[in-house]
Amino acid sequence: TTQIYYEDDVDESYLENTTVAVLGYGSQGHAHALNMKESGVDVLVGLRENSSSRKAAEEEGLEVGTPAEVAAQAEIISVLVPDTVQPAVYEEIEPHLEEGDTLQFAHGLNIHYNQITPPEHVDVTMVAPKSPGHLVRRNYVNDEGTPGLLAVYQDTTGDAVQRGLAYAKAIGCARAGVLETTFQEEVETDLFGEQVVLCGGVTSLVKHGYETLVDAGYSPEAAYFECMNELKLIVDLMYEGGLSEMWDSVSDTAEYGGLTRGDRVIDDNARENMEEILEEVQSGEFAREWILENQAGRPSYTQIRQAEKDHDIEEVGERLRDLYSWSESDGEEDETPEVP
Ligand code: NDP
Ligand code: MG
Ligand code: MG
Repeated sequence: TTQIYYEDDVDESYLENTTVAVLGYGSQGHAHALNMKESGVDVLVGLRENSSSRKAAEEEGLEVGTPAEVAAQAEIISVLVPDTVQPAVYEEIEPHLEEGDTLQFAHGLNIHYNQITPPEHVDVTMVAPKSPGHLVRRNYVNDEGTPGLLAVYQDTTGDAVQRGLAYAKAIGCARAGVLETTFQEEVETDLFGEQVVLCGGVTSLVKHGYETLVDAGYSPEAAYFECMNELKLIVDLMYEGGLSEMWDSVSDTAEYGGLTRGDRVIDDNARENMEEILEEVQSGEFAREWILENQAGRPSYTQIRQAEKDHDIEEVGERLRDLYSWSESDGEEDETPEVP
């Protein structure tokens, strides 16, 4: 079984007399920097000259320098700039990686696909909160935790696990639990999950369902509610109590219809496509495509991103969310309508 660590398993003295440089002050960067600072850790923030993030970091009382400057002063360097810019930022800090330092990540992409090759004299770790950065911060402030992953790619000091755990505790992850994994497993499952289920699969399911209803002559409003809006309620139930709680909460008609029809939508063919996508992740084909896309200035990414924004369901949804008070966009706590 997977090793899970909690606060009692962590010896925070591994961060004593240690300076942590957080490179980047975005989603993860601001959360790690602020949480660690409030946990009593010495934190520096590394940002490029004229960075638009500098003001926000300084307003919180954080000391800011260039990535090279703060890396030179720190023993743990946490790389929290976007994955696509990490190789370039790494070039700037590499000369400042001293014997026994830790190079720390929140996602293993660049290490796993060899876009960053650290020297042998440093530890390489990953502490990856399984959550967007703003929630890592909000949970910490509310004395709650965020589950996280810990992986060690290179352990020259012999302390990599302990230091990683101390880092995880300082950002609040050990309150909820820290699961041990490897860079390979984190990267491959993360990419597969976001492509097949969380981001790619679910949006495609929503759009195809919506289009099927609208093409058959039903109103876009009805199609939006059925295929997009109600999805949140269903997911909330699965999040709280698994598939059973969801099935128990919907009507028997919905349960019978769903159980007998679901596998016709996501059928053997879809399963084969999932396996193919997993192979592209495992072989590095996806990573290669994404790296080349970035090197070319993101031509197809820009195009498909725009097409997604222009989809009819977006216009319908925006109009409906403005009309109804349950929408979170009005700043109220969401009053979720009844489950179907
Ligand atoms: P962000 O996109 O939020 O990072 C933005 C920060 O990086 C800003 O401070 C920005 O500063 C800085 N930055 C951008 N480009 C450069 C550059 N060329 N040189 C120097 N600094 C730059 O990143 P995320 O927090 O989303 O991701 C960071 C890491 O965390 C990634 O490895 C990601 O995979 C991982 N991760 C992210 C999660 C998330 O919730 N987003 C969840 C779990 C892991 P400036 O103002 O100068 O542009
Ligand atoms: Mg991801
Ligand atoms: Mg219904």
